[in-house]
Amino acid sequence: MTTPLAAAPRTRLWTPAHVLVTRSAQEHPHTAEILRRCEAAGVDDVELLRGDRITGLRGGSERETYARAKATLAVVTSPASARRLDPIPPSADWRVDLARGCPAHCQYCYLAGSLTGPPVTRVFGDLEEILAGLDAYVGHGTITSTNAARADEGTTFEASCYTDPLGIEHVTGSLSAAIRHVGTHDFGGRVQLRATTKFADVAGLLDLPHAGRTRLRFSLGPESVVGRFEGGTDPVGARIAALATMARAGWPVGMTIAPIMPVGDWRTAYSDLVARVAAALDGVEDLDLTAECITHRFTPGSKETLDTWYPRTRLEMDPEQRKTKRGKFGAVKHVYPDDVMADLRAHVTDELAEHLPAARVLYWT
Ligand code: SF4
Repeated sequence: MTTPLAAAPRTRLWTPAHVLVTRSAQEHPHTAEILRRCEAAGVDDVELLRGDRITGLRGGSERETYARAKATLAVVTSPASARRLDPIPPSADWRVDLARGCPAHCQYCYLAGSLTGPPVTRVFGDLEEILAGLDAYVGHGTITSTNAARADEGTTFEASCYTDPLGIEHVTGSLSAAIRHVGTHDFGGRVQLRATTKFADVAGLLDLPHAGRTRLRFSLGPESVVGRFEGGTDPVGARIAALATMARAGWPVGMTIAPIMPVGDWRTAYSDLVARVAAALDGVEDLDLTAECITHRFTPGSKETLDTWYPRTRLEMDPEQRKTKRGKFGAVKHVYPDDVMADLRAHVTDELAEHLPAARVLYWT
């Protein structure tokens, strides 16, 4: 059964309990904007550190450390690794980090095993330098130039590999600054900023000068996935409504159907999801919509971290039920077996083709 969209969907605004600002981050203009936003959001625990080390996150137990880190925003200067961009197939040509870490509580979190230490959100105060660095990468991407469905995108920059930029936007302003920069800067070639989100508060973005160069994608899944495994995020109905709001305002938009899982009556659940999006986008003029489909996977490292963070999770992470894939450098990944993957792929892509033919499917993984 299709769940009707709420007229005014509830959105969740994360407000950190603690804000730590490293000494070097205090010098950057964007840090002042972050602190202004934190103050406006009612944060009163702001500590200006005398050095660049973030300390004080460890509690007496793993649980306490997790809780304190997830409630903390650290404003830092980006490490050199964040200013030297890496290719990030199949999502985009290059990964650009505005922050690392996320305050939400997804039990399959993509960051587990990638970022080490307590799961604090580190936002980069030297945003101007990070954005100024994009010029050097324009014209050097491989994703866009080898994929016909993306021929019009130019060089693509993915801003949500290590964070959910919209989830922290109201206390950082980093996403709107990046959209404004990409929308107004002369790069000497076509570019696209990309970000995926599980949040829905898009009101502050709508009037930005995006020039069609930012594609915000909404991470979508059925209630059987979102409701059970995506703590601290916005409900899927709110995300679909936000997707439709942006599309109606003339933005390029996308759906990131992820993580796709064969739980419960998954065929009906994914049919229902596609139908909800199709209904929300009905009648949008000049709709520019993409779809990216990502099945659930995990690594030995991410499983170890997630087992610590969410010891009572009911998320299936059993290597015995999975196929093991090895990456270029021997890294192990546990994905669904071929028959499960084929069933999922056939059903989800058929539903998209039938009910959302306007959606260009960029990849399935
Ligand atoms: Fe992790 Fe993304 Fe969920 Fe944040 S929104 S907890 S980054 S999976």
